[in-house]
Parts: sequence; structure tokens; C-alpha cells
Amino acid sequence: MIPSELVDSFGRVHDYLRLSVTDRCNLRCVYCMPADGMEFEPDENILSFYEITEVVRVLAEMGVKKVRLTGGEPLVRKGIEELVAAIAETPGIEDIALTTNGIFLAKKAAKLKAAGLKRVNISLDTLKADRFSLITRGGDVQRVLDSIAACQQAGIWPIKLNVVLMKGINDDEIEDFLRLTLDGAVQVRFIEYMPIGHNDMRWKQSYLPLSTVLERCKQLGWETEESHDVRGNGPAQTFRIAGAKGSFGLIHPVSDHFCETCNRLRLTADGNIKPCLYWADEFNVRKHIGDDEAIRQLFFKALSIKPMNHEMAKALADESQSHVPTARRMSQIGG
Ligand code: SAM
Ligand code: SF4
Repeated sequence: MIPSELVDSFGRVHDYLRLSVTDRCNLRCVYCMPADGMEFEPDENILSFYEITEVVRVLAEMGVKKVRLTGGEPLVRKGIEELVAAIAETPGIEDIALTTNGIFLAKKAAKLKAAGLKRVNISLDTLKADRFSLITRGGDVQRVLDSIAACQQAGIWPIKLNVVLMKGINDDEIEDFLRLTLDGAVQVRFIEYMPIGHNDMRWKQSYLPLSTVLERCKQLGWETEESHDVRGNGPAQTFRIAGAKGSFGLIHPVSDHFCETCNRLRLTADGNIKPCLYWADEFNVRKHIGDDEAIRQLFFKALSIKPMNHEMAKALADESQSHVPTARRMSQIGG
């Protein structure tokens, strides 16, 4: 086993890379991108597969074990299966996961699995077709449901559904999502709406703390217990409805941050290391590719300024924050 060298000034060990492979997307989810006018990085600014695998190789030598491909929408990047295969072959990488909106996944699930993909998170904020189309600005929910079935058929497990909970938009579907965990076919993870990319009233009006999910269980007379059995829990606090085969997770970065256990590094599609999701600090690695020691030093530098806490709760309370929040949108970071 490789001892991790990726330790920040608070002693947190970083063994997990969230790798954005594109800032482009086939959808325009209301909490992530504007309807129009989104500007994308020109192709020449985007890391090639060769450049990505070079960075992953160096990071694996430093102790990274898990890589998650994200975006934008990672499945709009041509040849993504080849990248999965190359990362899977990197010595030290034990786990490759994907976060996707699921629209293009049905066709690719079996190929991705064969390339080495271990598990998948599919974003799905509603089970209702008209509402899905409104939230994603034009998406077809049936394609996502077909993709879930295709992943099950391909033997990809676990399949986690990411549900961003929004007041007055999809909070009436908490029960429907929880019911999906009863037979264990999928795991559900509720995510708090984060103030990334648009610190405006729209976010505050739709934000809902995830204590709402446990309150809903109580109202339904469902007993819940903490659960520890799902591979790759990450920051989710995981529960199970008594008697259910599957579990549900709560990811509550705003109401109750989990920064003390943060093990994540982020690399944007244009090659910027982001030590923290929320803050503006970035370090571009591209010019160092080919010089392993320079890459290593840049990651050390990024970790040396990683803050203890992202302070998103202060945005909710309108309090001033100790760092400058990122101007990037979630689609430009990868979540
Ligand atoms: N396109 C892929 C997808 O939607 O799964 C991957 C990229 S997307 C930026 C990654 C995750 O971030 C998704 O689960 C999405 O729901 C979540 N996300 C985007 N904007 C968010 C926000 N403002 N607050 C909370 N989650 C957000
Ligand atoms: Fe695209 Fe994912 Fe953002 Fe939705 S959340 S707009 S699918 S990147």
C-alpha cells in the first residue's frame, strides 16, 4: 500500500480525486447553469486524455486511490470509455466512479463497466416527466430511468441517485424517493442546494435543510437507523428505513458541514486544482505535465492553503466569509 503524501495542514489525508472531464453539458439544470449565455472553455484549454492520465499517475503515486469522473456531463466527452480504461490500469487506483445526468448512459453502461467503471451516481431530482423537463430545461426522464435499468443489467453496483432537494420544487417527492430504497435496487442521496455560482435570492428561496428528510420519515411513521453498509459513502450520512434493503444518504454541506473528514481534491476540465469546492483558489497544473516533481509540488501547494471549513452556512446567514467564494458554476467544477 502506498502511504499518502497528500496530507493538508489539518492532517486530512487526500486519497480521492474528483476529475471534471468537460465543462459542457447536454442539460441546463436550474441550480447549476443559466438557461442561455453559458460560456464554455475552448477545446484547446481542455486537458487531453494523455494529460489527465499523467496527472492521475502522479497522484496515484502520492496516495490517491479513488477517481470520480464528473463534468459538465462526462458522457458528452468523446471516448470516455478509453479514459476509464486508462485510469483503471493506473497502478494504485482501486476505484473509478462516475457522476452523470444519465441521459446518455443506457447506451454506454455495459462498455463503461467493461472498461473498469465500478459504480455510478445518477442525478435525478424528480420522477415526474414534466417536472424533470422543467428542472433540467428540456431533459427526458425516461432516458434516465432506462439508464438505471441498463446499469442494473450491466452489473454496475451500487447505483446511487443524487437528488438535490429544493423547497417548493421537489420536496413533495421525498417519500417517493425513499420508497425506491425499500427493495435495495438503488441507493438515494439527498443533497442540499449549495450557493455555488449564484449567490442570489433564488438559491435562498429554494434551499431546504436535509433535516426535512428525517422529519418526513417521522411523519410517515417510518423508523430509521444509521447504516454503514454502502461502498463509497463519502460525505453522506447514511440511514435505512427499518426493514428496507437499501439505504439513503444525506449530504448537507450547508446545514452541517463535513469538512473535518474531507479527503477530496478536484481537478477542473481546464486543469485547475481546486483544494476546496467553495473557495476561489486554483492552481493550474497543465504547464507542469511532463515534470512529475513540479506536479507534486503544485498539489502540495494547493493542500497547504486548503481551509478547515468552506463556511457555506455563512452565505445562508449573510455573514462575511474568510475566503472569496468561487465564481465558477457547479458545471465548471464537477460538484
Ligand atoms: N452532469 C453530471 C450530473 O449532473 O450528475 C455531473 C456534474 S454535476 C455538476 C454534479 C452534481 O452536482 C450533480 O449531482 C448535481 O445535481 C449537483 N449540483 C449541481 N449544482 C448544484 C447546486 N447548486 N447545489 C447542489 N448540488 C448541485
Ligand atoms: Fe449538466 Fe449536471 Fe449541471 Fe445538470 S447538474 S446542468 S446535468 S452539469
